[in-house]
Amino acid sequence: MTKKKEIAIDLNSNWEFEPAPESTAHIKLKKKYDLFIGGKFVKPKSGKYFKTINPTTEEVLAEVAEAGQEDIDLAVKSARKAHKEWSKLSGKERGKYIFRIARLMQERAREFAVIEALDGGKPIREARDIDIPLASAHFFYYAGWADKLEYAFPNRKPKSLGVVAQITPWNFPMLMVAWKIAPALAAGNTVVLKPAETTPLTALKLAELFKDAGLPDGVVNIVTGYGKTGAMMVEHPDVNKVAFTGSTGVGKIIMKAIAGTTKKSTMELGGKAANIIFEDAPIDQAVEGIVNGIFFNQGHVCCAGSRLFIQESVYDLVMRKLKDRMQNLVVGDPLDKNTDVGAINSKKQLDVIDKYIKSGIAEGCEMYQPEGELPKKGYWCKPTLFTNVAQSNKIASEEIFGPVLAIQTFRTVAEVIAKANNTPYGLSAGIWSDKGSKVFNMTSKMKAGVVWANTYNKFDPTSPFGGYKESGHGREGGVQGLEPYLKFE
Ligand code: NAD
Repeated sequence: MTKKKEIAIDLNSNWEFEPAPESTAHIKLKKKYDLFIGGKFVKPKSGKYFKTINPTTEEVLAEVAEAGQEDIDLAVKSARKAHKEWSKLSGKERGKYIFRIARLMQERAREFAVIEALDGGKPIREARDIDIPLASAHFFYYAGWADKLEYAFPNRKPKSLGVVAQITPWNFPMLMVAWKIAPALAAGNTVVLKPAETTPLTALKLAELFKDAGLPDGVVNIVTGYGKTGAMMVEHPDVNKVAFTGSTGVGKIIMKAIAGTTKKSTMELGGKAANIIFEDAPIDQAVEGIVNGIFFNQGHVCCAGSRLFIQESVYDLVMRKLKDRMQNLVVGDPLDKNTDVGAINSKKQLDVIDKYIKSGIAEGCEMYQPEGELPKKGYWCKPTLFTNVAQSNKIASEEIFGPVLAIQTFRTVAEVIAKANNTPYGLSAGIWSDKGSKVFNMTSKMKAGVVWANTYNKFDPTSPFGGYKESGHGREGGVQGLEPYLKFE
């Protein structure tokens, strides 16, 4: 790990990466952001605003409206009104708007990537190469489905649900918004969406893009606020579906709130994935996969490979290579294109991570962190691993949502399957082996919605994503991601 020198943030400077060819835009943040309701930015009836902070500098980036009950009523009303026309448009017409959104997002990728890094703390390299291109790819993909719903669901007469309330987390702000809005619109629904309170700025930028795309007023409404605002959306009587991505704890609250109503739901919740290294794995590649699995996006990843299982015979070799690799990870300014690990998203999340690190030490686990100093200002956590870990230790059983890896060993396939499945979560897993038959055997026995083989954290709009057990229900992505936004005769 090397220390990066402090770089002053000049929002109008030229960033050293290739912008989308058409882009000439500069990054300009407003001082104050209002709610986007009925195709316009409107002041909140609540009169309240909250601050969104740059986690790298602890400075206020902007003030953002906090929607209250009256604002949510207006947003739902506007979505309901828009649904009358939007649901009557042909799939081809709806598809045209969604394609336009995808193209505009591609053109302005640079702006979105910089704002994502500023507001969320994620490395610009990840925002630029992964989050924003993938978000745009989701709009492209679902635009293609808009006029093919009858073929996707033959003889089932698919129809839109109506108004959907969508609530997203802070770890992939733009990507999670795309996962939600694109299939909902393709299926003919209208939307009220609330981004997470610590990362609202790219969703609000997207609202500007909706205006530029000529999306009819009220088809997507973006409201901002804390959990209270989300609860108002969930409980609103004129909402037909709740699509939620966030913690298992809040997912449970939402499921209780909609129990006994006709509201549909999809829940994309937490995870504690097993990343399993067999002795016959390509070890160097596997070490990269471990690093990507847990340190990508500071470990703020629902499907992070946060539990590492190494076959005993290669334990020493893997550990040596892993520690060497961790020493070379660059922790620092998210706007530096060489940064590997950016800032922790908020002070609150840093406190959670620190608490888990302390609990690992208190429970007798052995901690390793690479050498090097962290920046003085901002919220930071060194890439961290723990050995001498037992299944029952908190760091091995609870979701930390930070760059902290809990390592255990195993001898046999049966042993590692039992250990990997011994969790209330079931979102994802990784297997590293050069034996295809072993991989296939494992995938059928792992209780995980996604299983990666000899790779990790790979996403594609065509591929469904979602969990089992306390990781949620329903799928996002692929044709499977359309179904929860439709009803059938
Ligand atoms: P969170 O549950 O605290 O918040 C998520 C969103 O829900 C935010 O917008 C928040 O304002 C809102 N919210 C909070 N309380 C609410 C309530 N009572 N009613 C309605 N809305 C409410 O989660 P977070 O800390 O923002 O995100 C981290 C969590 O998200 C992790 O557990 C992670 O695993 C999960 N996640 C899951 C996936 C997935 O696809 N399965 C993807 C990303 C993140």
